[in-house]
Amino acid sequence: MDTFIIHPDIVKVIKKYVDEYPVEICANLKLYNEDSNNLVPHNVYKGKIEDDRGMCSHSEYSSHIFHSHNRKLYAYPSHQDILLVLKHYGKIKNSIIATKWGVWVISNTLKSNIYSSTSTSVPKIIRQLLDRIGVETSTTRQERERGADKSRILSDRDYILIDRVNKTFECLLNIKIVLYKWSDALIHGLILS
Ligand SMILES: [Zn+2]
Repeated sequence: MDTFIIHPDIVKVIKKYVDEYPVEICANLKLYNEDSNNLVPHNVYKGKIEDDRGMCSHSEYSSHIFHSHNRKLYAYPSHQDILLVLKHYGKIKNSIIATKWGVWVISNTLKSNIYSSTSTSVPKIIRQLLDRIGVETSTTRQERERGADKSRILSDRDYILIDRVNKTFECLLNIKIVLYKWSDALIHGLILS
């Protein structure tokens, strides 16, 4: 199985996107060169400041995509962020979302496409997952959607609880979600498959 690496130097750059930019940053991650398995940002787009959330959108989807939620935005992947990976089955392998809590990696590990625009069970499971993380970190849905989770600093226990919720979700949907702490990612980088 191929493994891809996001080097700590690149992690430092994406942390800056969270801490220092008032808007979202989107990028495709591509191999630095053919001989390496290091992923680096390409096609970096900034969201528009006039837009309420400063959202940006990808011009194309590659296997590994990235976007940031700056400090004013919520620390979670959105419902849409998770659905996007399912929707682009066969195209998006990993979606990397940098937030104040750390780096979320959503990997499509499915053996077949389960996305259907009319299915209600998948969106429901995603909503349950996000609500469950909210419960574990004492964040309400309203706070989450307003970005009021911004003041919350997670304890080690919070990370363990989030990890447990993510694993349950993996069993239900077969999509893998991991939240990496900044402190770990800045030292070891991120290893993706
Ligand atoms: Zn997002």
